Amino acid sequence: MTTKERYQSVIDYFTVHAPDAETELLYDNPYQLLVAVILSAQCTDKRVNLTTPAIFEQYPDAESLSKASFDELFPLIKSISYPNNKTKHLIGMAQKLVNEFNSEVPLTVDELVTLPGVGRKTANVITSVVDEQPNMAVDTHVFRVSKRIGLVKQTATTPLAVEKELIKNFPTELIHKAHHWLILHGRYVCLARTPKCRECGLQHCCKYFEKNNR
Ligand code: SF4
Repeated sequence: MTTKERYQSVIDYFTVHAPDAETELLYDNPYQLLVAVILSAQCTDKRVNLTTPAIFEQYPDAESLSKASFDELFPLIKSISYPNNKTKHLIGMAQKLVNEFNSEVPLTVDELVTLPGVGRKTANVITSVVDEQPNMAVDTHVFRVSKRIGLVKQTATTPLAVEKELIKNFPTELIHKAHHWLILHGRYVCLARTPKCRECGLQHCCKYFEKNNR
């Protein structure tokens, strides 16, 4: 199977089985999504979704969050991973939005990565989810699944290398959706320790499956 055929098989499968794939983070606007994505680093979306309603109620926009003190915000975040850093990042992020971006979330990767707590992965998520820009956030699931299937070469050893290969090979208009396809597949089927290959619909185009089922 050529790389092109492998990509087409993956696209065909998910187009039928996950046509509406989207983020599992709950949000109503770009500000809320940015807060949720910052909180989701090293943490499950489920836990973030339990945490954010109280934050959004108390701090409905960048202005209100920019005025929060560490001691006020920390108790709302303490049940998720790295609460100290995340509290500081959220307040710093909101202050920068207010001071430099007219309280709006900028929608370019270059601007987003200037915000505290926002790296390339987060910036890619925001721009692809909010604006359907063809940016691919590579988290642990996307990294593992795309390598197992054989969408990227085994020599792609960094998230950036994987991102570049996926961007090069997925049709531009599908990139924002492919991100969710791969994340959700990794979260529910192609698990890190024991992938559920027997119930996976990608057996026919997966290098890992081919290698382990000869
Ligand atoms: S066949 Fe197995 S390794 Fe391949 S994508 Fe499916 S679950 Fe993952």
